[in-house]
Amino acid sequence: MPLLADVAGRDPVPLLARTAALLAEDAELLDFLARDLDPTDARALAASPRPLANRALRMWLREDEGPERHPPSSEDIERAWAVVTGFMAPLSSPSPDVAPASGAPRVADVAGERLAREDPELGEVIVSEEEIRDKITELGARITADYAGRPPLLVGVLKGAFVFMSDLSRSIALPVEFDFMAVASYGSSTRTSGVVRIVKDLDTDLAGRHVLVVEDIVDSGLTLAFLLRNLAARQPASLAVCALLVKDTEVTAPELSYIGFHIPRDFVVGYGLDVAERYRNLPCIRRFNGQLP
Ligand code: 5GP
Repeated sequence: MPLLADVAGRDPVPLLARTAALLAEDAELLDFLARDLDPTDARALAASPRPLANRALRMWLREDEGPERHPPSSEDIERAWAVVTGFMAPLSSPSPDVAPASGAPRVADVAGERLAREDPELGEVIVSEEEIRDKITELGARITADYAGRPPLLVGVLKGAFVFMSDLSRSIALPVEFDFMAVASYGSSTRTSGVVRIVKDLDTDLAGRHVLVVEDIVDSGLTLAFLLRNLAARQPASLAVCALLVKDTEVTAPELSYIGFHIPRDFVVGYGLDVAERYRNLPCIRRFNGQLP
């Protein structure tokens, strides 16, 4: 201290005492925030700022060893952190475009974010998970009101619609029934020709049923136009379409009763939509920047 005072030309003690008082206030706040973190929840730790996660781990390890023990060493903390990061490696700094509005990330956010981070072919988010969730709640409420007293048979077009159909059906408060069909276009796998072959037909007789076709995406509308002609010939009591995404394409699409989002003409993936069977499990819709097959 006397040497410091000599070098600095002033007494360092009051300055150190003031700094210590300020740091003590900061430490109190950090302790308070760290107590809210569950140190046994790797996901919560990984989503928190590292100093806060460290603090929560330190408090937890110390608590475990009894108050009279020394605080855990930095090696102890590093080992605990390795377990957290080994469990959820790239999650400590979520990318801003898919970060949830508030609170800890949901498992689906985390998984989607991880996929996107590791894949340079995945572009920007076109429709976020939260926007999809809100829209599905709204569509479900409308369908519930429109079909009151005449629950629809939901017809999903495989494979793309399976994710949307699953979520949509759970926002409809009616005893809906389900069926699926699969069609293959004779065009390339990413552009339809309008000439469509039924690969898997429905199991249900549509006569007299209120049929609601659930589609993932309508681009030119050619696939859907074929499908509707085919289904209409089976004499359903009513036939309508709920499409999650409709592209801004010039070709006139068949009449759609329920539309989730109008999107640009770019090729998109996620939430059921694929490129060569990949990306269906992304929780949001993203632009695909890679080479199409
Ligand atoms: P449409 O006959 O309306 O031109 O094309 C409909 C079908 O093409 C969709 O059911 C889907 O399988 C595929 N498709 C069209 N646009 C996209 C897209 O942006 N992404 C993906 N993954 N598939 C698309």
